[in-house]
Amino acid sequence: MTRLALLNDAVARLEQAGIEDARRNAEWLLEDVLGVSRAMLYAHPEAAVSEGEQLHLEALLVRRLRREPLQYVLGYAEFFGLRLRVTPAVLIPRPETEEVVEAALGHLDGLETPWILDIGTGSGAIALALKDRHPSAEVFACDVSADALAVAAENAERLDLALTLVHTDVLNAAFAHDVTPTFHLVISNPPYVPETERATLQPEVRDHEPETALFVPGEDPLRFYQRLADLAPTLLKPGGFVVVETHADHGFGVRDLFRDAGFAEATLKADLSGRPRILTARYVR
Ligand code: SAM
Ligand code: GLN
Repeated sequence: MTRLALLNDAVARLEQAGIEDARRNAEWLLEDVLGVSRAMLYAHPEAAVSEGEQLHLEALLVRRLRREPLQYVLGYAEFFGLRLRVTPAVLIPRPETEEVVEAALGHLDGLETPWILDIGTGSGAIALALKDRHPSAEVFACDVSADALAVAAENAERLDLALTLVHTDVLNAAFAHDVTPTFHLVISNPPYVPETERATLQPEVRDHEPETALFVPGEDPLRFYQRLADLAPTLLKPGGFVVVETHADHGFGVRDLFRDAGFAEATLKADLSGRPRILTARYVR
């Protein structure tokens, strides 16, 4: 079969399954299998595809048709210009989280060696992006999931970006013993989806991404933010910043929470869709 015939067949099957951006998905899979760029794919549409490559494509396509996210099928995701390995042990880093990194970078200006802590690092996306931009930074990254930390470690190694990885539960009292330095910046994209929204999530997210990464345990949707505010005196240097991503419904709630906890300059930024969900606040003693 030719490239074009395989591509058209894959597009038709993905469309049939109701998958958004069916053509783009099919292109990504075929590019990956053939090891060619999109431009090359279309430059030689009549090129023959070997049987081995056809079988490989079929295996990937079947996974995608079962609604496994494209990035898990490919095994990688792009984040802040870095190619990160992703497995079902980690949340697939989202484009809006790049804006959280961007907001944080603005607070590191003038610091020779910023001390940074990423809470709930998953694939290591935020921590690695900051270290990449600020090679002299001391970047700590923690997660409750040992499997996620293994992926973060693999990414750090592959990208040659040094992180200090800590396996710990931020909600546990022992956290302060596990993470002892004080930081100029504490950054987090914590779990913030309430259990009540489970049914509204796309099957790719609901059925494939890690529960621990998505859902807030318990009744309080702001639980992780309250914990960060409570930890501020032990974690942050005076004048240090907290930068967090929030649920679109809770940006203002999180801002008020940090204001009430005595933080200064608590400000919300909108994401690219205009929803206020990037919160920065400054810890002043
Ligand atoms: N930082 C990554 C990103 O932005 O792509 C992953 C964010 S994901 C929404 C939240 C992460 O927090 C998951 O990796 C999850 O395992 C971790 N996590 C959940 N509960 C935690 C806890 N109690 N202590 C530490 N990490 C936790
Ligand atoms: N942004 C993710 C989603 O779209 C949720 C990530 C999180 O809970 N921090 O479902």
